[in-house]
Amino acid sequence: MPRSSTPRAPKLKNAQPFTRKVLAWYARAGRDLPWRRTRDPYRVLVSEFMLQQTQVSRVREYYPRFLERFPDLGSLARAPARAVREAWDGLGYYARARNLHELAKCVTRRHDGTLPDEPEELRELPGVGPYTAGAVASFAYEKPVPAVDTNVSRVLRRVFFGRATLKDSLTVAGNVQRATAVWGLAGKLVPKNGKRAWQFNQAMMELGALICVARKPKCPQCPVRAVCRTGKG
Ligand code: SF4
Repeated sequence: MPRSSTPRAPKLKNAQPFTRKVLAWYARAGRDLPWRRTRDPYRVLVSEFMLQQTQVSRVREYYPRFLERFPDLGSLARAPARAVREAWDGLGYYARARNLHELAKCVTRRHDGTLPDEPEELRELPGVGPYTAGAVASFAYEKPVPAVDTNVSRVLRRVFFGRATLKDSLTVAGNVQRATAVWGLAGKLVPKNGKRAWQFNQAMMELGALICVARKPKCPQCPVRAVCRTGKG
């Protein structure tokens, strides 16, 4: 009988120390980025679209220019497609600019120009997947919901699932099961208090971007090494 590829639910005995350590590290080492200084939903949304598949250093350059040209959702919705494309020029993956523009028009039409605050509603908008929906709900509205991107998923798998379940599944069904398990875990870990949830989600992304990187994780410098099933081995 073939072995199931469903990852076992991890033991959560380390959940509290993990969260505490991640938050303390972020308070010390988190970068001061322009989109972390705002709770404006439109500004958060623009940063999330730009950060998909693009390095922080490039987004830092384009983000203020784009916002100067389109300072709010209404100005973006009214802009001609050519102007949006021009403002995005050089960032690549232009489907993101098209989706962002469509989203602005859609929110103006359907939601009176106000971005929804619930992940389920956000997911109905163009270009918004589960991660972006969670990120906007958490980073703009301080909703206590998870936001799992590639970085966060990697950290959670390494810390809580360990090496045995790290191997990529060869089946689509296996990948779906793994993603479901990771999202379920993130939902249990995210603090119930919205402000702390904001910090936790930012901290997780930062840990994946700076320390628990894909190829050579910096385990000796890692704040959660003592509770990590991968790094302490
Ligand atoms: S100890 Fe290593 S593997 Fe574990 S979270 Fe830290 S960097 Fe990642």
